Amino acid sequence: MIVRGRITMASVNGQRPEVIVVGAGPAGSIAARELALQGHEVLLLEKAHFPRPKTCGDGLTPRAVAALQRLGLEEMVRAAGAYRVNWALLMGPSGQTMKMPFHGLPGKLPSYGYVLPRLVLDDLLRRAAQSAGAVLWQNSKVIAPRQDSRGRILGVEIVQDGRRRTVLAPLTILATGAAFPLLKLFGFLDRLPPVVRAVRGYWNQVIDLSPQLEFYFTVLNRIRGYAWLFPTAAGKANIGLGVFPPAAANSRASLNVRAMLAQFMATEPSLQHRLADAVPAGKLAGYPLRTDFPAMRSWRPGCIVVGEAAGLVNPVTGEGIDLAMESGALAARTVHPFLSSDRRLLDVGLFVYNWRLRRQYGLLFRGLHLLLRRAMMPRSLSRLIRQGNRHAVLAKRIAGINLGTTSPYTAFYPSTWYYLRKR
Ligand SMILES: Cc1cc2nc3c(=O)[nH]c(=O)nc-3n(C[C@H](O)[C@H](O)[C@H](O)COP(=O)(O)OP(=O)(O)OC[C@H]3O[C@@H](n4cnc5c(N)ncnc54)[C@H](O)[C@@H]3O)c2cc1C
Repeated sequence: MIVRGRITMASVNGQRPEVIVVGAGPAGSIAARELALQGHEVLLLEKAHFPRPKTCGDGLTPRAVAALQRLGLEEMVRAAGAYRVNWALLMGPSGQTMKMPFHGLPGKLPSYGYVLPRLVLDDLLRRAAQSAGAVLWQNSKVIAPRQDSRGRILGVEIVQDGRRRTVLAPLTILATGAAFPLLKLFGFLDRLPPVVRAVRGYWNQVIDLSPQLEFYFTVLNRIRGYAWLFPTAAGKANIGLGVFPPAAANSRASLNVRAMLAQFMATEPSLQHRLADAVPAGKLAGYPLRTDFPAMRSWRPGCIVVGEAAGLVNPVTGEGIDLAMESGALAARTVHPFLSSDRRLLDVGLFVYNWRLRRQYGLLFRGLHLLLRRAMMPRSLSRLIRQGNRHAVLAKRIAGINLGTTSPYTAFYPSTWYYLRKR
């Protein structure tokens, strides 16, 4: 779409940026930071004003911690008061539990994760991008692409303080999360993909918190989804619930995830004494999650997508901060040499990014989607959790699959069946 009207050309430090990054979530801030560290002129555009909340469970998996370590940012996150968690506790549809330790995981992951509200995490990450030299424009909403007659993305149209502006750059990176309309305008989506619908809230005065991420599949008897309780600080927790597709495809009115969360909190037996005095801190917030990476295109001339904008959220766990940071860093690493040399070859770099992304996550996502279809049923999951509690090998395999470091196809190996039946 070529937008007409009063426009002004924007510049960064008196120059045209080499890269525009749209969205200062984990994917965008990391891409912007890594490119700025390589000496590129980066403009980071964000529609909100920091610090801003982001609807999320706030859980940083060991995989996310590994990404932070590689980027040299873990200490910053820890010092900001991130709550350390050492294992995940899964509660099955019939109430059986399984402790999934984070130590000794395949892929040499750290033996812990964190919980840190996105209000804090995203603020830290955008500051890191700015410290590296990226220029951040807040309150700057991208409303459309600017493209040439052959469909090459030349930049973006933004609305800033009520004024419309055009910003042009050789490369635009979209890191807008699950923002469907914009991805459609940029030609990355032609219809609404299947989404997970989720809601979360914060509560104070929650008792008996342990350094664990708690996942409740007890709700699976009623809905196709799960609930979680993640401790954010002493006595405080992020509690939420997500519903998988295709049930989540129902209209918002017919799928009331808020009511489902309220019902879960009121009826989950193991939580009654722990939430007896709990008081909500703020309002509930809902947001969709996109897990459609395999069906999603990730580049077109002059433009790539990273993070959840590329559908990169683990379809089984709903976790995507780790993959957002990984893909942001991967994008920066891949396009840097192409930005630094003959610009006519830039699209080759974008194609290479797409290829690397498919190689890294393609098979994994197909396997996870398959697993979601086959195992996310009350009977199969009950057995998985019961047997995982008995056999450490199985528990480790489940942890590795959930974190994406063990192939999801191992769930269908004869050895898995052996442990599923072993007394
Ligand atoms: C309820 C819920 C719970 C979740 N729990 C977890 C969890 O515990 N752990 C986990 O790892 N993941 C979790 N996720 C998933 C996680 O939130 C996302 O995968 C992650 O935020 C993706 O990061 P991102 O940088 O790609 O996009 P986002 O974090 O969505 O960031 C996108 C940014 O782009 C900005 N933006 C959007 N449109 C525009 C525009 N037009 N112009 C300018 N700026 C724009 C937004 O304001 C935002 O700042 C959860 C998601 C939900 C909804």
